[in-house]
Amino acid sequence: MSRIARVIVDLSLDKAFDYLIPPPLAARIVIGVRVRVPFGNSFRLGYVLALSDHSDFEEQLKTIESLGDGRTQLPEALIKLGSWMAEYYCCTQEQAIRSLLPGAVRLGRIKPKTLTVYRVAEPEKARQYIEANAGREKAQGRVNLLKVLLEQPGLAADVLLNLAETTVSPLQGLVKNGLVAKSEQLLRRNPFSDSTVLPSAPLPANAEQQAALERVRAMLEGREKRHVMLLHGVTNSGKTEVYLQSIAMALELNRSAIVLVPEISLTPQTVRRFRARFGDKISVLHSRLSDGERFDEWNRINDGIVQIVVGARSALFAPFRNLGLIIVDEEHEASYKQSEAPRYHARDVAVMRGLLEQAAVILGSATPSFESYRNALEKRYVLVEMLHRVDDKLLPSVKVVDLRLGAPEPGEKKSGLFTKILIQAIQERLQLGEQTILFLNRRGFARQMLCESCGYVAGCPSCSVPYTYHRKEEMLSCHLCGSMIEAPECCPSCGAAEIRYSGSGTEKIESLAAAIFRGAKVVRMDSDSIRAGNSHEAILDRFRKGEIDILIGTQMIAKGLHFPNVTLVGIINADQGLYLPDFRACERTFQLLTQVAGRAGRGDVRGEVIIQTFSPANDTIRFAVSQDFKAFYQYDMTVREALHYPPDGHLMVLNFRSLDAEAGMQYAARCMELLRPFCHDEIIVSEPAPAPIEKIKTKYRFQIIFRGRKLKQLRQALRELTLRRRHPDGIELYLDIDAQSLL
Ligand code: ADP
Ligand code: ZN
Repeated sequence: MSRIARVIVDLSLDKAFDYLIPPPLAARIVIGVRVRVPFGNSFRLGYVLALSDHSDFEEQLKTIESLGDGRTQLPEALIKLGSWMAEYYCCTQEQAIRSLLPGAVRLGRIKPKTLTVYRVAEPEKARQYIEANAGREKAQGRVNLLKVLLEQPGLAADVLLNLAETTVSPLQGLVKNGLVAKSEQLLRRNPFSDSTVLPSAPLPANAEQQAALERVRAMLEGREKRHVMLLHGVTNSGKTEVYLQSIAMALELNRSAIVLVPEISLTPQTVRRFRARFGDKISVLHSRLSDGERFDEWNRINDGIVQIVVGARSALFAPFRNLGLIIVDEEHEASYKQSEAPRYHARDVAVMRGLLEQAAVILGSATPSFESYRNALEKRYVLVEMLHRVDDKLLPSVKVVDLRLGAPEPGEKKSGLFTKILIQAIQERLQLGEQTILFLNRRGFARQMLCESCGYVAGCPSCSVPYTYHRKEEMLSCHLCGSMIEAPECCPSCGAAEIRYSGSGTEKIESLAAAIFRGAKVVRMDSDSIRAGNSHEAILDRFRKGEIDILIGTQMIAKGLHFPNVTLVGIINADQGLYLPDFRACERTFQLLTQVAGRAGRGDVRGEVIIQTFSPANDTIRFAVSQDFKAFYQYDMTVREALHYPPDGHLMVLNFRSLDAEAGMQYAARCMELLRPFCHDEIIVSEPAPAPIEKIKTKYRFQIIFRGRKLKQLRQALRELTLRRRHPDGIELYLDIDAQSLL
């Protein structure tokens, strides 16, 4: 048994401390257990990271005071994963550990919910008592209680007293003289308690699914060297069914499974499919759980009561001890990257967890990330393709419409956003009683308020972006910081009344659609309409029932929804996002267009997609139209290879935020000089410069971008710089490893 424990204390010191293990606790001090230790003049809670028999500080060691709560335990493999995260993502050990455990568990404020229940202590004695006291009026209550409990042990007080038609004092009497025992029964705060689902059976797999499942089986049974599989399957090719049957295989081998889906796709519809197959073996972790529910779900996983977890990013850290399978659905999604420290990428951490625990990892997508696709092409991952839709339904036909041709005829009022072709296609659907989805990736009514006399554009003073106009409220709002002002009636700069609103958002499309398609039921779904009280679920429900003809929305409707009656998808303006100053702009556009297009024709009728664009000759748009991921990959990869952008090399961004622009820029330059010695020839450095969005929430932003290979030394230097060095007041520094956005 070890004498010494290395403990990470809940303080941001990024350092573990050695403590002696008191012999009485020796058997219970294991890796991952929570302990209370003396620290400075007081006590602190911490986690045991490692056990050892010697310490470099032998003389000065203090002793562990007690076990924290004796319950919470992190599996050793997760602690290892945390250490890797701290190293790779350059965060502190505490930050890494914090992300391993939900706050509801870590902070120890939530207690298990229990219920006091009663049962007869010794049935024989109870029967004797009943016999001896039969007919005695004074003992009536007690006799009744014993009779009830003999038949139904484990009742709670209120039910018991009700059945026995008596009061609490005879019950207390029975407990006191030992005839009745009481105990605490653990209650589960069940997020599903109000709904049931019909069970579903596995569908007979088609040839492509069969082939995919064979490869999964080989991985699970250890017959495949590589532990990661990229499942590249077009929308509706039956990926989810492959996931479900893969999980069943893992369970047969007595191993558990984690399924990650982007938060936005974690819809009741998705959850239902998993519950229908696995019922109570499954735990769902999403952001709307209460702390109590989260606490209970975590404990159910920790205690081995459930074998499957479905959830967003953080579900990756489910404390399973016999993990067999991790599935990352829509693995290309940028939302898998955490935006605060530790800025980890859940897909990459999943691959690492799989490696540490010898679990198979399935990355699934219709539009794989370039990182994963390259790994697959270079045979580091198993590549499985499912290029046909289930039952050989055709992929939707895609038509490009040039928005420049939608210019108004003389005398016609401009509404260039609805081209004739799109209007006609929607009208056909309305006549046939089929449904349409219109997609525009921008909320609000208009992009910006522009003065036609002086060119003034109303912008948020705290963030260097234009305001977005929201017509319903007559407000201008900043989509970065959320600030709102009343929309002015004349130009705040020159006083002219010629204010124009240019560009358009979902709100404008909604009002145009309502005007063009009179009598049709048009509904908008984006974060604004959701905030206004129309629940996501309620809108989708109405859409499913056919109560809505045209659904207009942002990203929110692009993902994972399955509506057989949708035969037309219109993309109002495909160019949005295409020209952002980010090397992933084309990739994101391609992904989004493919995902949105995938919503069409999931029923019996072949779907149609209309993509409106000002740049029909643009390569990304052309590849999206032909739905040719491979060709797009080859095309965009040549650009990235030339510039050594990921996946050709890694990318690290050092960010600076400062209230004072001058000071921020100067400090960035100084840091650059400190780092220069660590930048060898194969590292490309973009010297300190303002970020594309220069200011957010009154803070100026600067960045230094490093890219290339063999970054270990530089990473170490960056870690030292960001975590150990004191920075000037008013300047914040943070490092984003494998940054997903350069804005
Ligand atoms: P994806 O996840 O690739 O979009 P899904 O797994 O959701 O595809 O499958 C699309 C639809 O086809 C679902 O309604 C699903 O129930 C159905 N499906 C999947 N596999 C089969 C199969 N082998 N036989 C019949 N129907 C299937
Ligand atoms: Zn702002």
